[in-house]
Formats: sequence, C-alpha cells, structure tokens
Amino acid sequence: MFKNILLAFDGSVHAQKAAQMAADLARQHRASLCLVHTYDPVPDYLGEPFLQEAISRRTQAADQVVAQARALLGEVPELETEVLEGPPAEAILRVAEVRQVDLIVMGTRGLSQLQGLLLGSQSQKVLMHARCPVLLVR
Ligand code: ATP
Ligand code: MG
Repeated sequence: MFKNILLAFDGSVHAQKAAQMAADLARQHRASLCLVHTYDPVPDYLGEPFLQEAISRRTQAADQVVAQARALLGEVPELETEVLEGPPAEAILRVAEVRQVDLIVMGTRGLSQLQGLLLGSQSQKVLMHARCPVLLVR
C-alpha cells in the first residue's frame, strides 16, 4: 500500500517512537524510507569566521541526530536521508512533494518544553498542508 514513506525526525521521544513505526511500516510494505531532519537557519549577519563555525556546529549536531535515527530504524529496504536548513514543516512538505511520498510519519510533539500542547506547531502545519496521509505518533 505504501511505497514511499517520509520520516520527520528531531531526536525527541515522540520522534523516536515515530522512527520505530516508520521502520516497521517500511519493512511490512517493502517501502523506501526518506529520513528528514532540519536544522535552524544560520543568520548570515554573523560574518566570517563565525558563520562557518556556526554552520559546521549545526551540521555536526544534525549528523548526530541522523545517526541516532539510523540506529533506531535498523534494516529497512531502502533508506535516503535529507538534512536541510530551515523551518521543519516547510522542508518536510517540500520533500514530500518532490519525492511524491505517500505517507508522512512524525511525532505529535517534538523537543519543545511547552507543557499541555497536544500537537506541536510543525506537526500541525504538516497535517494542515500535506497532500498525503500523515501518521502522528505519540
Ligand atoms: P514546537 O516546536 O511547535 O514548539 P514541539 O517541538 O513539541 O513544539 P514539533 O516541533 O511540531 O513539536 O514536533 C513534532 C514532530 O515534528 C517531531 O516529533 C518530529 O517528527 C517533527 N519535527 C520537529 N522538528 C523537526 C526537525 N527539526 N526536523 C525534522 N522533523 C522535525
Ligand atoms: Mg519543535
């Protein structure tokens, strides 16, 4: 039923559960999985050499999050990884369009400390604008 699954991963507990579910679905459906992680944009007013430093700090942190996700996913039929700069929901929606994914899997919440919210702002945006089914894992 599903051929192209997108997993949005920020390292949070909810995203970890989403990763396990996405991997199970990918194995069951023999689907390919695209792992998406975004990091915060680096303000360009920083100037050199701080700009390069800030960029490499962000990309190193992103690599660690990706490694964590890969460890959770285990063996899946096919895995692609997209590490992008920018607001998460926009990036997730763009990758979903370009790759024509047929399922987006993400956590209901993410890393933010705000208590009491059922849905984070990124899952809300994706749910609102995605053109394919969205599975929100809690
Ligand atoms: P908010 O960020 O709105 O203050 P939150 O952090 O609790 O609240 P979201 O950011 O919406 O909630 O996180 C929900 C899900 O969105 C996460 O479990 C993850 O699947 C995905 N997500 C959030 N941030 C990223 C990111 N930087 N890269 C990839 N996926 C992300
Ligand atoms: Mg968040």
